[in-house]
Amino acid sequence: MSGPAALRVLRGGRSPNRFAARVARVHGELRASDVDTLQVNVGKRCNQACRHCHVDASPSRTEVMPDDVVDACLDTLARDDALRTLDITGGAPEIHPRFRDLVVRARELGRHVLVRHNLTVQGEETQDDLPRFFADHGCEVVCSLPHYTAEATDRQRGRGVYEASLEGLKALNAVGYGRGGSLVVDLVANPVGAFLPPAQQDLERDTREYLERQHGIAFDHLFTITNMPIARFAQWLDRAGLHDEYMERLEQAFNPATLPALMCRTLISVSWDGRIYDCDFNQMLELAVGNGSQPTIHDLDTRALANRIIQTADHCFGCTAGAGSSCGGAIA
Ligand code: SF4
Ligand code: SF4
Repeated sequence: MSGPAALRVLRGGRSPNRFAARVARVHGELRASDVDTLQVNVGKRCNQACRHCHVDASPSRTEVMPDDVVDACLDTLARDDALRTLDITGGAPEIHPRFRDLVVRARELGRHVLVRHNLTVQGEETQDDLPRFFADHGCEVVCSLPHYTAEATDRQRGRGVYEASLEGLKALNAVGYGRGGSLVVDLVANPVGAFLPPAQQDLERDTREYLERQHGIAFDHLFTITNMPIARFAQWLDRAGLHDEYMERLEQAFNPATLPALMCRTLISVSWDGRIYDCDFNQMLELAVGNGSQPTIHDLDTRALANRIIQTADHCFGCTAGAGSSCGGAIA
């Protein structure tokens, strides 16, 4: 089965779950450990519309987290000390009207704040002071840059994105990011095609050398991530006739050593409308936590979610292939 049919099955969770069966053979059930991160997806609006986007984000999307959900996220952080990190994603989270308020209040609560930043959003109206804002509030900034060459990056993200991204990185360097101090900027690279990422260490070294030599740009870490076979990337795989081949590649590269560090074991993902998921990918597939009555951020009890069985389907092979893949890059 491939393409839309496979996606329908993933959404409905009705197919035999090959991933769960594979995990069961080496590990038993995949369960969460203690939750320490609240990952908040504030909406699907983005200034870009990248070919691989697992959120299907674009400028025309209208899903935006309402005020009561933003407030509930902050209330949850305030009452649960175990949630040490707020991880803000989208879309382009910075264009959400409450973005800066969310950052400021989470920092006042003493939380580590990590922002998933596409760099080009700095060129949007009223956003050119973002680097200063990030620096003033000590955010860790995780920037998407599919590859250190212009050709590969623009092929995936659109013409001119590479140049704009480099300008964004220079602006972050100018306020102190990437200099080995407390202001941390990370790059996220992903393959521009239906293959697995290269070794993270090698790509980090090559990217560091290239960006420093050619552009005088510095960064702290580079994370490699695997393209997930869902949403826009799955549609592209389908059109290219590569869906089954890619799924097979991921499955064959299954690496049990990745299981202990899967991000779903320690985070909770909140969607723009306040529903709770095991991760951002499950959120996009509407694969609900607990497989039954779905909790929302308004009634979230993270202790009750510790040790839960994680909802999986075959897209999860994207997280366990090779060196593994998570929001923080390779995991094995
Ligand atoms: S991949 Fe990131 S930058 Fe590109 S459309 Fe999706 S959310 Fe926006
Ligand atoms: S997609 Fe990855 S992070 Fe999400 S539930 Fe599956 S294995 Fe966990």
